[in-house]
Amino acid sequence: MTDHLIDPCGRRVDYLRLSVTDRCDLRCFYCLPAEYRGDDEPEDWLTFAEIGRLVGAFVALGVRRVRITGGEPLTRKGLPDLAGGLARIPGLLDLSLSTNAVGLARHAHVLRAAGIRRVNVSLDSLRAERFKQITRGNLDKVLAGLMAAGTAGFAPVKINMVVMKGVNDDEIEDMVAFCIEHDFTLRLIETMPVGDTGRDATAHFVDLGEIRARLEAHYDLEPAVMPGGGPAHYVQVAGTRLRIGFITPISQHFCATCNRVRLTADGTLYLCLGQDHRFEFRPLLRAGISDSDLQDAVRHAITLKPDRHEFLEKPRQVVRFMAKTGG
Ligand code: SAM
Repeated sequence: MTDHLIDPCGRRVDYLRLSVTDRCDLRCFYCLPAEYRGDDEPEDWLTFAEIGRLVGAFVALGVRRVRITGGEPLTRKGLPDLAGGLARIPGLLDLSLSTNAVGLARHAHVLRAAGIRRVNVSLDSLRAERFKQITRGNLDKVLAGLMAAGTAGFAPVKINMVVMKGVNDDEIEDMVAFCIEHDFTLRLIETMPVGDTGRDATAHFVDLGEIRARLEAHYDLEPAVMPGGGPAHYVQVAGTRLRIGFITPISQHFCATCNRVRLTADGTLYLCLGQDHRFEFRPLLRAGISDSDLQDAVRHAITLKPDRHEFLEKPRQVVRFMAKTGG
């Protein structure tokens, strides 16, 4: 038996995105509808013990990186306990977190102590009024969370900015200056047609090739690499420590090197962000499956991974929201 997960296209899957809730304390217009209250009942959510068992099975089969996400993971009660348990799984090399940082000022130190090493923070605008229009949230809380991430020792701290025409595409140079000042890494992301909200937002789609060309007119950009296993193409701004990553699922998809799968809070494994291929683990866990049968189920689930998304060909296909799948 192999201890690697290889999908039907020969890609090695060594990265798990773990969504711990579909709830969020922000309402980014391109992600969640304003009235969204969550799809799942909390009794459907996997318990920390169930998550630990399942992640343990993935790690036993060669998964080396886990990113905790959501929804907003900091809204899940007891998250540091879950993180601490995951960090102790032998063989798991990299435990990271995606957050909107609203609650990070309060939780940064305890999460760092629990074993999370890296953090990605979503931040689409540095202007309070605009930030509120995009997210319905308070920018000051996010900035406080970001600063706390720096002092708590997360390294690197990455900022994820979804670039949208007519919404925030005039702020990229400001974001570059902000990231240089605070020693953050910047990742620019194209909007994807995920859920009704994401589909509506494609009117704001910007090809990041254009943005890169615009930045090249201002800065000397050198090719760079960034550890972390993600799909971003990085450049370094010459004369600074700033690295900028371009994540281009639409203009230049990276499915051929996709190494990840996504587990939702209710124990559904999605094999692709842009397709509906899935496998349900909760019934197996609750029926008392053995460890070896659980590993067999994980191996089987990976055989369902499709070769690529079809965001361009079938933009109406993915009805679930990003916060449900785990972005
Ligand atoms: N709450 C956490 C956060 O804010 O990072 C984690 C979950 S959030 C769904 C993960 C990422 O997905 C965020 O960076 C968000 O901007 C991004 N996202 C959500 N909907 C998207 C869409 N339609 N297109 C591109 N990115 C999207």
